[in-house]
Amino acid sequence: MSDEIGASAFSGPETLSRTEIESIERLLPYLSYGREGLALEGIPVRRVWNGTRALLLHLPRRAVDNYTALKAAFSPFFDVRVHCAIKACYVPEVLRALCAAGAGIEVMSDLEWRLARRLGFPDERVVSDSVARPVAHLERLLRAQGVLISVDGVRELERVEWHARRLGMRPAIVIRVNLLPPDDFFCDHSKLGTEPAEAYALLERAANSAHLDLAGVHAHQLVHCSSVSQFAAQATRAAELAAAFATVQGTRLRVINLGGGLESRFLLERAGIVCEDLAAAAREALKPAPPGYRLLLEPGRFVFADAAVVFTGIISERRKSGQDWLVTSVAGNLLRPIRDRSYPPLPLTLAGGQQWQRWHVADPSCTPSRLWLDALLPSDAASQGLALLDVGAYTAVRASVWGTELPDMGTFHNGEVDITFGRAQQTAVMRALYGIDLGP
Ligand SMILES: *Cc1c(COP(=O)(O)O)cnc(C)c1O
Repeated sequence: MSDEIGASAFSGPETLSRTEIESIERLLPYLSYGREGLALEGIPVRRVWNGTRALLLHLPRRAVDNYTALKAAFSPFFDVRVHCAIKACYVPEVLRALCAAGAGIEVMSDLEWRLARRLGFPDERVVSDSVARPVAHLERLLRAQGVLISVDGVRELERVEWHARRLGMRPAIVIRVNLLPPDDFFCDHSKLGTEPAEAYALLERAANSAHLDLAGVHAHQLVHCSSVSQFAAQATRAAELAAAFATVQGTRLRVINLGGGLESRFLLERAGIVCEDLAAAAREALKPAPPGYRLLLEPGRFVFADAAVVFTGIISERRKSGQDWLVTSVAGNLLRPIRDRSYPPLPLTLAGGQQWQRWHVADPSCTPSRLWLDALLPSDAASQGLALLDVGAYTAVRASVWGTELPDMGTFHNGEVDITFGRAQQTAVMRALYGIDLGP
Protein backbone atom coordinates (compact mmCIF):
# COMPACT_ATOMS: atom_id res chain seq x y z
CA MET A 1 0.00 0.00 0.00
CA SER A 2 2.71 2.47 1.00
CA ASP A 3 4.42 1.41 -2.21
CA GLU A 4 1.39 2.54 -4.22
CA ILE A 5 1.18 5.91 -2.51
CA GLY A 6 4.87 6.46 -3.22
CA ALA A 7 4.41 5.39 -6.82
CA SER A 8 1.68 7.91 -7.59
CA ALA A 9 3.56 10.79 -5.96
CA PHE A 10 5.67 11.30 -9.09
CA SER A 11 4.56 13.59 -11.89
CA GLY A 12 3.76 11.86 -15.16
CA PRO A 13 1.96 8.61 -15.96
CA GLU A 14 1.90 5.54 -13.73
CA THR A 15 4.81 3.17 -14.16
CA LEU A 16 4.17 0.40 -16.70
CA SER A 17 3.17 -2.78 -14.88
CA ARG A 18 4.86 -6.07 -15.56
CA THR A 19 1.78 -7.29 -17.44
CA GLU A 20 1.74 -4.16 -19.58
CA ILE A 21 5.41 -4.68 -20.43
CA GLU A 22 5.03 -8.37 -21.17
CA SER A 23 2.12 -7.68 -23.52
CA ILE A 24 3.49 -4.39 -24.88
CA GLU A 25 1.96 -5.09 -28.32
CA ARG A 26 -1.43 -4.24 -26.80
CA LEU A 27 -0.25 -0.69 -26.22
CA LEU A 28 2.17 -0.36 -29.13
CA PRO A 29 1.48 -2.89 -31.91
CA TYR A 30 4.94 -2.43 -33.44
CA LEU A 31 6.65 -3.82 -30.33
CA SER A 32 6.58 -7.39 -29.03
CA TYR A 33 8.69 -9.84 -27.06
CA GLY A 34 9.80 -13.03 -28.75
CA ARG A 35 12.46 -15.64 -28.24
CA GLU A 36 15.15 -13.15 -29.23
CA GLY A 37 13.87 -10.47 -26.89
CA LEU A 38 12.20 -7.20 -27.82
CA ALA A 39 11.27 -6.91 -31.50
CA LEU A 40 10.44 -3.87 -33.60
CA GLU A 41 7.91 -4.56 -36.36
CA GLY A 42 8.79 -8.22 -35.85
CA ILE A 43 12.57 -7.71 -36.20
CA PRO A 44 14.54 -8.49 -33.01
CA VAL A 45 16.14 -5.31 -31.70
CA ARG A 46 19.47 -7.07 -31.28
CA ARG A 47 19.58 -7.53 -35.07
CA VAL A 48 19.18 -3.82 -35.79
CA TRP A 49 21.10 -2.35 -32.85
CA ASN A 50 24.57 -3.49 -31.81
CA GLY A 51 24.40 -1.85 -28.40
CA THR A 52 27.46 0.39 -28.67
CA ARG A 53 25.93 3.83 -29.25
CA ALA A 54 22.44 4.85 -28.19
CA LEU A 55 20.01 4.99 -31.10
CA LEU A 56 16.85 7.01 -31.74
CA LEU A 57 14.69 5.45 -34.44
CA HIS A 58 11.67 7.23 -35.89
CA LEU A 59 8.83 5.09 -37.23
CA PRO A 60 7.08 6.85 -40.13
CA ARG A 61 4.42 4.16 -40.36
CA ARG A 62 3.26 4.68 -36.78
CA ALA A 63 3.05 8.45 -37.25
CA VAL A 64 0.82 7.91 -40.30
CA ASP A 65 -1.27 5.42 -38.34
CA ASN A 66 -1.78 7.96 -35.55
CA TYR A 67 -2.78 10.67 -38.02
CA THR A 68 -5.12 8.31 -39.86
CA ALA A 69 -6.78 7.10 -36.65
CA LEU A 70 -7.59 10.66 -35.59
CA LYS A 71 -8.81 11.72 -39.01
CA ALA A 72 -10.95 8.59 -39.44
CA ALA A 73 -12.60 9.02 -36.03
CA PHE A 74 -13.69 12.61 -36.71
CA SER A 75 -14.57 12.24 -40.39
CA PRO A 76 -18.03 10.69 -39.97
CA PHE A 77 -19.21 13.80 -38.06
CA PHE A 78 -17.10 16.64 -39.37
CA ASP A 79 -15.46 18.14 -42.39
CA VAL A 80 -12.15 17.73 -40.54
CA ARG A 81 -8.56 18.56 -41.45
CA VAL A 82 -5.67 17.40 -39.29
CA HIS A 83 -2.64 19.69 -39.38
CA CYS A 84 0.29 18.01 -37.64
CA ALA A 85 2.41 20.42 -35.58
CA ILE A 86 5.76 20.34 -37.35
CA LYS A 87 7.58 21.79 -34.34
CA ALA A 88 7.34 18.38 -32.67
CA CYS A 89 9.30 16.56 -35.41
CA TYR A 90 11.38 17.60 -38.43
CA VAL A 91 12.32 14.12 -39.66
CA PRO A 92 11.78 14.16 -43.45
CA GLU A 93 10.75 10.51 -43.80
CA VAL A 94 8.07 10.97 -41.16
CA LEU A 95 6.78 14.23 -42.63
CA ARG A 96 6.83 12.96 -46.22
CA ALA A 97 4.84 9.92 -45.16
CA LEU A 98 2.28 12.13 -43.44
CA CYS A 99 2.10 14.41 -46.46
CA ALA A 100 1.53 11.44 -48.75
CA ALA A 101 -1.24 10.26 -46.41
CA GLY A 102 -3.01 13.60 -46.91
CA ALA A 103 -2.11 15.31 -43.63
CA GLY A 104 -1.89 19.05 -43.27
CA ILE A 105 0.85 20.81 -41.34
CA GLU A 106 1.02 23.53 -38.68
CA VAL A 107 4.04 25.85 -38.72
CA MET A 108 5.15 28.59 -36.36
CA SER A 109 7.97 30.27 -38.28
CA ASP A 110 9.60 30.89 -41.62
CA LEU A 111 12.06 28.08 -40.91
CA GLU A 112 9.23 25.63 -40.39
CA TRP A 113 7.25 26.86 -43.36
CA ARG A 114 10.26 26.47 -45.65
CA LEU A 115 10.75 22.95 -44.31
CA ALA A 116 7.07 22.08 -44.88
CA ARG A 117 7.15 23.43 -48.44
CA ARG A 118 10.37 21.64 -49.22
CA LEU A 119 8.82 18.37 -48.11
CA GLY A 120 5.86 18.89 -50.40
CA PHE A 121 3.05 20.30 -48.25
CA PRO A 122 0.99 22.59 -50.51
CA ASP A 123 0.15 26.02 -49.02
CA GLU A 124 -3.54 25.06 -48.86
CA ARG A 125 -2.61 22.42 -46.28
CA VAL A 126 -0.60 24.82 -44.09
CA VAL A 127 -1.80 26.69 -41.02
CA SER A 128 0.53 29.31 -39.57
CA ASP A 129 0.34 29.95 -35.82
CA SER A 130 2.47 32.59 -34.19
CA VAL A 131 2.27 35.22 -31.52
CA ALA A 132 4.28 37.61 -33.71
CA ARG A 133 5.86 37.25 -37.15
CA PRO A 134 8.91 38.99 -38.57
CA VAL A 135 7.85 41.16 -41.51
CA ALA A 136 9.75 39.14 -44.12
CA HIS A 137 7.98 35.96 -43.02
CA LEU A 138 4.58 37.62 -42.90
CA GLU A 139 5.09 39.00 -46.36
CA ARG A 140 5.97 35.59 -47.78
CA LEU A 141 2.94 34.03 -46.09
CA LEU A 142 0.64 36.70 -47.49
CA ARG A 143 2.01 36.36 -50.99
CA ALA A 144 1.59 32.57 -50.87
CA GLN A 145 -2.15 33.08 -50.39
CA GLY A 146 -3.40 29.54 -49.53
CA VAL A 147 -1.99 29.54 -45.98
CA LEU A 148 -4.49 29.99 -43.12
CA ILE A 149 -3.04 32.55 -40.70
CA SER A 150 -3.80 32.47 -36.99
CA VAL A 151 -3.73 35.91 -35.39
CA ASP A 152 -2.90 36.22 -31.72
CA GLY A 153 -3.62 39.66 -30.26
CA VAL A 154 -4.51 43.13 -31.47
CA ARG A 155 -1.00 44.14 -32.48
CA GLU A 156 -0.58 41.13 -34.77
CA LEU A 157 -4.04 41.76 -36.24
CA GLU A 158 -2.99 45.31 -37.10
CA ARG A 159 0.28 44.13 -38.59
CA VAL A 160 -1.36 41.43 -40.73
CA GLU A 161 -3.99 43.88 -41.89
CA TRP A 162 -1.47 46.61 -42.66
CA HIS A 163 0.78 44.34 -44.72
CA ALA A 164 -2.18 42.70 -46.46
CA ARG A 165 -3.38 46.12 -47.53
CA ARG A 166 0.09 47.15 -48.66
CA LEU A 167 0.44 43.98 -50.78
CA GLY A 168 -3.13 44.03 -52.05
CA MET A 169 -3.87 40.65 -50.45
CA ARG A 170 -6.85 39.47 -48.42
CA PRO A 171 -5.60 36.57 -46.27
CA ALA A 172 -7.86 34.07 -44.55
CA ILE A 173 -7.32 34.40 -40.81
CA VAL A 174 -8.47 32.83 -37.57
CA ILE A 175 -8.39 34.58 -34.19
CA ARG A 176 -6.65 32.76 -31.38
CA VAL A 177 -8.58 32.63 -28.13
CA ASN A 178 -7.98 31.10 -24.70
CA LEU A 179 -11.26 29.41 -23.89
CA LEU A 180 -10.34 27.49 -20.78
CA PRO A 181 -9.44 28.94 -17.39
CA PRO A 182 -5.69 29.46 -16.90
CA ASP A 183 -3.76 26.38 -15.77
CA ASP A 184 -0.15 25.64 -14.93
CA PHE A 185 0.97 25.94 -18.53
CA PHE A 186 -1.35 28.59 -19.96
CA CYS A 187 -1.16 30.70 -16.82
CA ASP A 188 -2.24 34.28 -16.30
CA HIS A 189 1.22 35.38 -17.39
CA SER A 190 1.15 33.40 -20.65
CA LYS A 191 2.04 35.40 -23.73
CA LEU A 192 -0.24 33.18 -25.83
CA GLY A 193 -3.87 33.65 -26.80
CA THR A 194 -6.43 36.28 -25.81
CA GLU A 195 -9.27 36.32 -23.35
CA PRO A 196 -12.68 35.55 -24.89
CA ALA A 197 -13.95 39.16 -24.61
CA GLU A 198 -10.86 40.53 -26.30
CA ALA A 199 -10.96 37.77 -28.91
CA TYR A 200 -14.58 38.65 -29.63
CA ALA A 201 -13.57 42.24 -30.28
CA LEU A 202 -10.82 41.03 -32.62
CA LEU A 203 -13.33 38.86 -34.49
CA GLU A 204 -15.56 41.91 -34.99
CA ARG A 205 -12.67 43.99 -36.16
CA ALA A 206 -11.46 41.34 -38.60
CA ALA A 207 -14.98 40.78 -39.93
CA ASN A 208 -15.24 44.49 -40.74
CA SER A 209 -11.84 44.76 -42.40
CA ALA A 210 -11.65 45.09 -46.16
CA HIS A 211 -8.21 43.50 -46.11
CA LEU A 212 -8.88 40.44 -43.99
CA ASP A 213 -10.99 37.38 -44.73
CA LEU A 214 -12.18 36.26 -41.30
CA ALA A 215 -12.39 32.46 -41.39
CA GLY A 216 -12.89 31.53 -37.77
CA VAL A 217 -11.52 30.86 -34.31
CA HIS A 218 -8.44 29.06 -33.11
CA ALA A 219 -8.11 27.57 -29.63
CA HIS A 220 -5.11 25.70 -28.29
CA GLN A 221 -5.02 25.50 -24.55
CA LEU A 222 -4.58 21.84 -23.82
CA VAL A 223 -1.30 20.31 -22.63
CA HIS A 224 -0.78 16.56 -22.41
CA CYS A 225 -4.58 16.43 -22.39
CA SER A 226 -5.83 12.98 -21.43
CA SER A 227 -9.29 14.03 -20.36
CA VAL A 228 -12.22 13.75 -22.73
CA SER A 229 -14.19 16.26 -20.67
CA GLN A 230 -11.40 18.85 -20.84
CA PHE A 231 -11.20 18.39 -24.61
CA ALA A 232 -14.99 18.73 -24.78
CA ALA A 233 -14.98 21.82 -22.54
CA GLN A 234 -12.76 23.70 -24.96
CA ALA A 235 -14.93 22.59 -27.91
CA THR A 236 -18.11 23.69 -26.11
CA ARG A 237 -16.73 27.17 -25.54
CA ALA A 238 -15.50 27.41 -29.12
CA ALA A 239 -19.00 26.51 -30.30
CA GLU A 240 -20.59 29.07 -27.97
CA LEU A 241 -18.26 31.79 -29.19
CA ALA A 242 -18.95 30.93 -32.83
CA ALA A 243 -22.71 30.85 -32.20
CA ALA A 244 -22.73 34.16 -30.32
CA PHE A 245 -20.67 35.83 -33.00
CA ALA A 246 -22.85 34.59 -35.87
CA THR A 247 -26.02 35.68 -34.06
CA VAL A 248 -24.88 39.21 -33.28
CA GLN A 249 -22.67 39.89 -36.28
CA GLY A 250 -24.33 37.87 -38.97
CA THR A 251 -20.89 36.66 -40.09
CA ARG A 252 -20.74 32.89 -39.99
CA LEU A 253 -17.38 31.44 -39.01
CA ARG A 254 -16.34 28.69 -41.38
CA VAL A 255 -13.35 27.35 -39.41
CA ILE A 256 -13.19 26.07 -35.84
CA ASN A 257 -9.65 25.09 -34.95
CA LEU A 258 -9.36 23.16 -31.69
CA GLY A 259 -5.55 23.17 -31.75
CA GLY A 260 -3.34 20.44 -30.35
CA GLY A 261 -2.30 19.50 -26.84
CA LEU A 262 -3.42 15.88 -26.77
CA GLU A 263 -1.36 13.33 -24.85
CA SER A 264 0.48 10.77 -26.97
CA ARG A 265 -1.79 8.16 -28.47
CA PHE A 266 -0.59 5.09 -26.61
CA LEU A 267 -0.86 6.85 -23.25
CA LEU A 268 -4.40 7.95 -24.11
CA GLU A 269 -5.30 4.41 -25.13
CA ARG A 270 -3.70 3.10 -21.96
CA ALA A 271 -6.07 5.38 -20.06
CA GLY A 272 -8.95 3.86 -22.03
CA ILE A 273 -9.42 6.81 -24.39
CA VAL A 274 -9.55 6.20 -28.13
CA CYS A 275 -9.92 8.74 -30.94
CA GLU A 276 -13.59 7.83 -31.30
CA ASP A 277 -14.21 9.05 -27.73
CA LEU A 278 -12.72 12.44 -28.57
CA ALA A 279 -14.72 12.62 -31.80
CA ALA A 280 -17.98 11.73 -30.03
CA ALA A 281 -17.32 14.35 -27.35
CA ALA A 282 -16.53 16.99 -29.98
CA ARG A 283 -19.68 16.13 -31.91
CA GLU A 284 -21.79 16.74 -28.82
CA ALA A 285 -19.85 19.80 -27.68
CA LEU A 286 -19.93 21.51 -31.08
CA LYS A 287 -23.70 21.17 -31.58
CA PRO A 288 -24.34 24.85 -30.73
CA ALA A 289 -21.95 25.98 -33.50
CA PRO A 290 -23.63 27.32 -36.64
CA PRO A 291 -23.42 24.55 -39.25
CA GLY A 292 -21.22 24.52 -42.30
CA TYR A 293 -17.87 24.95 -40.60
CA ARG A 294 -14.70 22.99 -41.08
CA LEU A 295 -13.05 21.52 -37.99
CA LEU A 296 -9.25 21.73 -37.68
CA LEU A 297 -7.05 19.78 -35.30
CA GLU A 298 -3.35 20.43 -34.73
CA PRO A 299 -1.88 17.45 -32.92
CA GLY A 300 1.85 17.35 -32.32
CA ARG A 301 2.59 14.95 -29.49
CA PHE A 302 -0.38 12.72 -30.38
CA VAL A 303 1.00 12.01 -33.85
CA PHE A 304 4.76 11.94 -33.22
CA ALA A 305 5.51 10.96 -29.61
CA ASP A 306 4.97 7.22 -29.80
CA ALA A 307 6.30 7.04 -33.36
CA ALA A 308 9.91 6.59 -32.23
CA VAL A 309 11.95 4.42 -29.88
CA VAL A 310 15.33 4.91 -28.22
CA PHE A 311 17.68 2.02 -27.53
CA THR A 312 20.30 2.78 -24.96
CA GLY A 313 23.01 1.01 -23.05
CA ILE A 314 23.38 1.39 -19.30
CA ILE A 315 26.67 3.01 -18.36
CA SER A 316 26.41 2.32 -14.69
CA GLU A 317 24.20 1.44 -11.75
CA ARG A 318 24.27 3.33 -8.52
CA ARG A 319 22.63 3.02 -5.16
CA LYS A 320 21.75 6.19 -3.31
CA SER A 321 19.54 6.72 -0.28
CA GLY A 322 18.22 3.19 -0.53
CA GLN A 323 17.25 3.61 -4.18
CA ASP A 324 18.73 1.84 -7.19
CA TRP A 325 19.52 3.93 -10.26
CA LEU A 326 20.26 3.00 -13.84
CA VAL A 327 22.38 5.55 -15.70
CA THR A 328 21.74 5.49 -19.45
CA SER A 329 24.07 6.60 -22.20
CA VAL A 330 21.30 8.58 -23.91
CA ALA A 331 21.07 11.98 -22.27
CA GLY A 332 18.90 14.98 -21.60
CA ASN A 333 20.40 16.85 -24.54
CA LEU A 334 17.99 14.65 -26.56
CA LEU A 335 15.42 13.52 -24.00
CA ARG A 336 14.48 16.61 -22.06
CA PRO A 337 12.88 15.96 -18.72
CA ILE A 338 9.32 17.24 -18.86
CA ARG A 339 8.19 15.55 -15.66
CA ASP A 340 9.41 12.86 -13.23
CA ARG A 341 8.28 10.25 -15.70
CA SER A 342 8.69 11.24 -19.31
CA TYR A 343 10.08 8.27 -21.23
CA PRO A 344 8.81 4.82 -20.17
CA PRO A 345 11.61 2.23 -20.12
CA LEU A 346 11.28 -1.34 -21.37
CA PRO A 347 13.70 -4.22 -20.89
CA LEU A 348 15.30 -5.62 -24.03
CA THR A 349 14.83 -9.22 -22.95
CA LEU A 350 12.31 -11.09 -20.86
CA ALA A 351 13.34 -14.41 -19.36
CA GLY A 352 11.44 -16.79 -17.12
CA GLY A 353 13.57 -16.58 -13.99
CA GLN A 354 14.17 -12.83 -13.91
CA GLN A 355 13.74 -10.93 -10.66
CA TRP A 356 11.95 -7.61 -11.04
CA GLN A 357 12.62 -4.51 -9.00
CA ARG A 358 12.11 -0.73 -8.84
CA TRP A 359 14.69 1.47 -10.55
CA HIS A 360 15.11 5.17 -11.08
CA VAL A 361 16.31 5.70 -14.65
CA ALA A 362 18.40 8.78 -15.39
CA ASP A 363 20.93 10.15 -17.82
CA PRO A 364 24.63 10.78 -17.08
CA SER A 365 24.62 14.57 -17.52
CA CYS A 366 25.55 16.92 -14.69
CA THR A 367 22.00 18.29 -14.57
CA PRO A 368 18.94 17.27 -12.54
CA SER A 369 17.68 15.58 -15.71
CA ARG A 370 16.01 12.18 -15.29
CA LEU A 371 14.06 9.89 -17.60
CA TRP A 372 11.69 7.86 -15.40
CA LEU A 373 11.50 7.61 -11.64
CA ASP A 374 10.38 4.36 -10.04
CA ALA A 375 10.34 2.08 -13.08
CA LEU A 376 9.60 -1.62 -12.79
CA LEU A 377 12.31 -3.59 -14.61
CA PRO A 378 14.15 -6.89 -14.36
CA SER A 379 17.15 -6.80 -12.01
CA ASP A 380 19.48 -7.66 -14.89
CA ALA A 381 18.25 -4.71 -17.02
CA ALA A 382 21.62 -3.00 -16.64
CA SER A 383 23.45 -5.67 -18.60
CA GLN A 384 20.87 -5.66 -21.39
CA GLY A 385 20.21 -1.99 -22.04
CA LEU A 386 16.79 -0.44 -22.35
CA ALA A 387 14.24 0.69 -24.88
CA LEU A 388 12.67 4.06 -24.07
CA LEU A 389 9.18 4.98 -25.32
CA ASP A 390 7.36 8.21 -26.12
CA VAL A 391 10.53 9.75 -27.55
CA GLY A 392 9.29 10.97 -30.95
CA ALA A 393 7.94 14.46 -30.14
CA TYR A 394 10.00 17.49 -29.09
CA THR A 395 13.19 15.41 -28.78
CA ALA A 396 15.29 15.35 -31.97
CA VAL A 397 13.99 18.81 -32.90
CA ARG A 398 15.47 20.21 -29.71
CA ALA A 399 18.57 18.04 -29.57
CA SER A 400 21.68 20.04 -28.83
CA VAL A 401 25.34 19.25 -29.20
CA TRP A 402 25.95 19.89 -25.55
CA GLY A 403 27.18 18.01 -22.54
CA THR A 404 27.44 14.44 -23.74
CA GLU A 405 27.29 12.49 -27.02
CA LEU A 406 24.01 12.58 -28.84
CA PRO A 407 22.74 9.15 -29.92
CA ASP A 408 22.69 8.02 -33.50
CA MET A 409 19.41 9.09 -35.06
CA GLY A 410 17.52 7.71 -38.00
CA THR A 411 14.40 5.99 -39.21
CA PHE A 412 13.13 2.42 -39.22
CA HIS A 413 11.17 1.47 -42.28
CA ASN A 414 10.39 -1.96 -43.75
CA GLY A 415 12.81 -3.59 -41.35
CA GLU A 416 15.68 -1.29 -42.37
CA VAL A 417 17.57 1.15 -40.19
CA ASP A 418 18.66 4.33 -41.95
CA ILE A 419 20.93 6.47 -39.79
CA THR A 420 21.09 10.14 -40.77
CA PHE A 421 22.89 11.55 -37.74
CA GLY A 422 25.86 9.78 -36.20
CA ARG A 423 29.19 10.55 -34.62
CA ALA A 424 30.59 12.11 -37.82
CA GLN A 425 27.62 14.48 -38.10
CA GLN A 426 28.04 15.47 -34.47
CA THR A 427 31.68 16.29 -35.17
CA ALA A 428 30.55 18.30 -38.18
CA VAL A 429 28.14 20.32 -36.02
CA MET A 430 30.99 21.14 -33.62
CA ARG A 431 33.09 22.25 -36.56
CA ALA A 432 30.27 24.35 -38.01
CA LEU A 433 29.45 26.03 -34.70
CA TYR A 434 32.91 26.54 -33.24
CA GLY A 435 35.35 25.92 -36.06
CA ILE A 436 37.06 23.20 -34.07
CA ASP A 437 37.84 19.73 -35.35
CA LEU A 438 37.50 17.10 -32.62
CA GLY A 439 39.53 14.60 -34.66
CA PRO A 440 38.69 10.93 -34.96
C1 LIG B 1 2.66 23.33 -30.20
C2 LIG B 1 1.38 23.58 -30.83
C3 LIG B 1 0.59 22.50 -31.25
C4 LIG B 1 0.95 21.07 -30.97
O1 LIG B 1 0.95 20.84 -29.58
P1 LIG B 1 1.00 19.37 -28.99
O2 LIG B 1 0.92 19.58 -27.54
O3 LIG B 1 2.29 18.75 -29.40
O4 LIG B 1 -0.17 18.63 -29.55
C5 LIG B 1 -0.59 22.79 -31.89
N1 LIG B 1 -0.99 24.07 -32.11
C6 LIG B 1 -0.26 25.13 -31.69
C7 LIG B 1 -0.76 26.49 -31.93
C8 LIG B 1 0.94 24.91 -31.03
O5 LIG B 1 1.64 25.95 -30.60
